[in-house]
Amino acid sequence: MTSKTRVVVIGAGLAGVTLARRLGELGTPALLVGDEEHRPYNRVLLAEVLAGRYSPEVIALPAPAGLLRGRVTGVDRAGRTVRCADGSVIAYDTLVLATGSNAVLPPLRGLFSPDHELPEGVHAFRTMDDCLGLSKAVRPGARAVVIGGGLLGVSAARALAVRGAQVVLAQQSERLMERQLDPAASALVRRHLEGLGVEVHTECRVRDVRGVGGAVRSVEMGDGYALGTDLVVLACGVRPRVGLAREAGLDVGKGVLVDDELRTSDPHIRAVGDCAEHAGRVYGLAAPALEQADVLAGLLAGDGTGSGAAAPRYTGTRSLTRLTLTGPDGPFGGPDGPFDLAAFGETDPRPGDDVVQLADATRGTYRKVVVRDDRLVGGVLVGELGTVGALARAWEGAEPLPSDGGPLLHLLTQDGGS
Ligand SMILES: Cc1cc2nc3c(=O)[nH]c(=O)nc-3n(C[C@H](O)[C@H](O)[C@H](O)COP(=O)(O)OP(=O)(O)OC[C@H]3O[C@@H](n4cnc5c(N)ncnc54)[C@H](O)[C@@H]3O)c2cc1C
Repeated sequence: MTSKTRVVVIGAGLAGVTLARRLGELGTPALLVGDEEHRPYNRVLLAEVLAGRYSPEVIALPAPAGLLRGRVTGVDRAGRTVRCADGSVIAYDTLVLATGSNAVLPPLRGLFSPDHELPEGVHAFRTMDDCLGLSKAVRPGARAVVIGGGLLGVSAARALAVRGAQVVLAQQSERLMERQLDPAASALVRRHLEGLGVEVHTECRVRDVRGVGGAVRSVEMGDGYALGTDLVVLACGVRPRVGLAREAGLDVGKGVLVDDELRTSDPHIRAVGDCAEHAGRVYGLAAPALEQADVLAGLLAGDGTGSGAAAPRYTGTRSLTRLTLTGPDGPFGGPDGPFDLAAFGETDPRPGDDVVQLADATRGTYRKVVVRDDRLVGGVLVGELGTVGALARAWEGAEPLPSDGGPLLHLLTQDGGS
């Protein structure tokens, strides 16, 4: 890459900001175009803002130089330019899509008005605007229904309960956070939420949102029961934002398809973060977004330097999911302490796998690891994360574990726990 090469990054989220900052450090400044009004922020911490624990300023990301506020509405691949909503046109040599995900809006009757606006009181939970809107609407005693019991729904329900709302969490499948947690860990999360007064309903489908005068009044369950509510939070998952890529004719699966150099089907366009699909995987998590941004910065800054060093490659992220739910130290403190959990790899054993499990019902802690062919393939820790670093390293390294099992037990208990 020559010094004239112009890198334009679309999307000032975790991936885009990290990439632009790293490129700046490596002497290849980029132009970053982001469509959110707020200063770039760490989306992972939005629930902390909703819970009243952090102000929006606390979760702001250090903004890189060269940040332009605006929405890119089209890509002209032949002319190598992008068009913005304000009519401006920006030329690029390398374009990076870091457009993230959108909240999935479930197909509920009554959700959309003819002008595609959500009814008043119904909120997605993806952006700072969503978070501030919800935060403004919630008050002690307000009735809230959270639809979806994954990571997002659990965080939102916890935060709203901490703010004094009467929360009902409706989860369609049979347990909470089923993608990450095994049944025992799920049960502890449920117990924790119920301890905060959240009413948890599993195998519960919401089919209708009802309002009066454009404002939500109730939701109707699959069995016809109507539940009065002031607020509804839609936490039904996310979908990669691939509209620009698709319209530009790039190859798109669930996300924008990229190779090990994060290159799309157009060699001048790369993609990173939630919008990218690598080796059949769309991660939707922060750690892969950061790793991809880091690799791409190395690739773009290194091109053409003639250093002879092997080009970095992105070969996938073994990603640990970690959730800390706010404790009583916030201004809207809850009745108990912080609640931590971490999960990685496969937490449900296959036949023939070895499982080591330690549970302490009184303290509400639970630790489990799954071992296959002498290798750690997954684990889940709830309430007590002292050993998470050592376990994650053993998992990431994928080295065979000594066969007597001693070191494994040590890994589970080395913090001195039970
Ligand atoms: C409430 C919440 C909690 C979460 N908790 C966790 C967690 O505990 N652990 C975890 O690993 N992950 C978590 N995540 C997921 C994590 O936030 C995402 O994986 C991460 O933000 C992905 O980064 P990204 O830069 O790819 O996308 P994003 O952060 O979504 O950023 C994309 C940006 O691009 C902008 N954009 C899109 N299109 C355009 C356009 N055409 N023009 C200009 N700008 C555009 C968007 O507005 C957005 O600002 C959470 C997400 C949420 C919402």
